[in-house]
Amino acid sequence: MPVEHETLTKTGKELKSLNKKKAIRLKCFNCSGWSQKDVKECKTTDCKLYPYRMSENPNSGVQRAKDIKSYCTWCLNTNVHDVKKCVDFSCPIWPFRRGSITDRSREGIVSITDEF
Ligand code: SF4
Ligand code: SF4
Repeated sequence: MPVEHETLTKTGKELKSLNKKKAIRLKCFNCSGWSQKDVKECKTTDCKLYPYRMSENPNSGVQRAKDIKSYCTWCLNTNVHDVKKCVDFSCPIWPFRRGSITDRSREGIVSITDEF
């Protein structure tokens, strides 16, 4: 189920309807200075988001959710339990960072108070 989330775009923050596929694509654009070419030619093959950067999912949905969580663990340099504490609300994958299918931040409208 997509979530409405105010997130970073090339032109600033925008309210977007995001699912995991779109969120990863946006995160990769952000990471690559909003260059489609650089996302396609990304050399960081060990990045957890790498297999999904071209809006494809070569793995299962469960694996992709785990990889998002893993990416966030790396990003915060923390353990999996503390990923929920991320306060970078404008990150495209923020609503999906906890990975769990039961994560309530993935249902309906996300508000910044929803998680705390
Ligand atoms: S796969 Fe990782 S390193 Fe490559 S563009 Fe996406 S987020 Fe950046
Ligand atoms: S949601 Fe937070 S921890 Fe995850 S990639 Fe974005 S900024 Fe990093």
